[in-house]
Amino acid sequence: MNEKNERVKLIIIGSGPAGYTAAIYAARADLKPVIYQGLQPGGQLTITTEVENYPGYPDGTMGPKMMDDFQKQAQRFGTDIRFGYASSVDFTGPVHKITIDENKIIEADAVIIATGATAKWLGLESEEKFNGFGVSACATCDGYFFKGQDVAVVGGGDTAAEEATFLSKLCRKVHLIVRRDEMRASKAMQHRVENSPNIQIHWNTETKEILGNKTVNGVRIFNNKSGKEYNLDITGFFVAIGHKPNTEIFKDWLDMDSNGYLKTIPGSTRTNREGVFAAGDVQDHIYRQAVTAAGTGCMAAMDAEKFLSSKGLH
Ligand code: FAD
Ligand code: NAP
Repeated sequence: MNEKNERVKLIIIGSGPAGYTAAIYAARADLKPVIYQGLQPGGQLTITTEVENYPGYPDGTMGPKMMDDFQKQAQRFGTDIRFGYASSVDFTGPVHKITIDENKIIEADAVIIATGATAKWLGLESEEKFNGFGVSACATCDGYFFKGQDVAVVGGGDTAAEEATFLSKLCRKVHLIVRRDEMRASKAMQHRVENSPNIQIHWNTETKEILGNKTVNGVRIFNNKSGKEYNLDITGFFVAIGHKPNTEIFKDWLDMDSNGYLKTIPGSTRTNREGVFAAGDVQDHIYRQAVTAAGTGCMAAMDAEKFLSSKGLH
């Protein structure tokens, strides 16, 4: 072992609901986990306001506060929580090597990957300004706040179709903004959109600017064929143009689907590399919720514990 190297039993990469839940279970199983938080300590929930659908918080809670609670719980059982991001990995095995901040190497008998996924954004200044104040990338999470109101969804894929349909049951009107003259979504999902009387599709349309003061009160859109611009009066603006799983550094080592999500062996969190497990949004393009991320984080810690015991390493 090189001087710069450190040997641990279990490393957890990522500090969202999946990573911290894995840490709580692993620390209580005496695996002495080391967790690297990455560039967004606490994960995606730190960029939202209220979370109302996580069980155990009857009055809801703020995303950053909730992740603070997760961190404290992981700390209470002795998790070694560190700043730093995994810049590359070597899963040749049996001991796995994870380079932190392009500098230090951690050698681990087991690895839990919980690096999450990042919503894609349009890249407008106004989108950033109103993020959490009317702009959202998650209708399941935030749709309820716009009950009975008019909202817009951007995108033409299955996610946009699903978000628009979900919102159509809560909101008065849903404007679906599609940049081409057809949707990429599956036919079944498109039929659902077409059969929702309160969804209006704006074809060949793109977003110029989100309008508002403290919160959103409209959006300026334009037809990219005619150039015509107009405003929609809305209070919620949902961006649904896809997510990108944070898996770049694993691409030479782990099996992924065509969108870059890590593949796990069904019914487990095992990847195709022995001793490497994946939990949370990084391996889930369907549910993408804090509670499901936490659930698979628990599974990953239990799978890792079983693996280490079977190898006589714990
Ligand atoms: P994430 O929360 O994405 O965390 C990933 C972690 O990995 C981060 O800590 C990051 O720093 C770290 N990381 C990434 N790459 C590296 C690396 N190379 N090295 C080290 N660390 C790394 N869900 C709900 O259930 N209810 C809600 O109300 C809700 N609201 C939401 C609102 C918004 C605006 C968004 C964007 C999402 C919302 N979600 C909500 C979804 C929820 O946030 C995610 O499903 C959940 O956070 C996924 O958890 P995770 O642990 O898999 O990953
Ligand atoms: P996606 O299939 O990549 O679709 C993204 C959509 O957003 C496309 O319509 C794209 O337009 C549009 N878009 C991208 N960038 C844009 C921009 N800057 N401005 C405006 N529009 C933009 O992503 P997804 O919908 O998240 O789906 C990802 C995968 O998950 C797919 O395989 C999908 O089938 C799957 N999924 C399945 C379900 C389900 O079956 N229930 C639900 C959700 C997701 P263009 O078409 O013009 O490129």
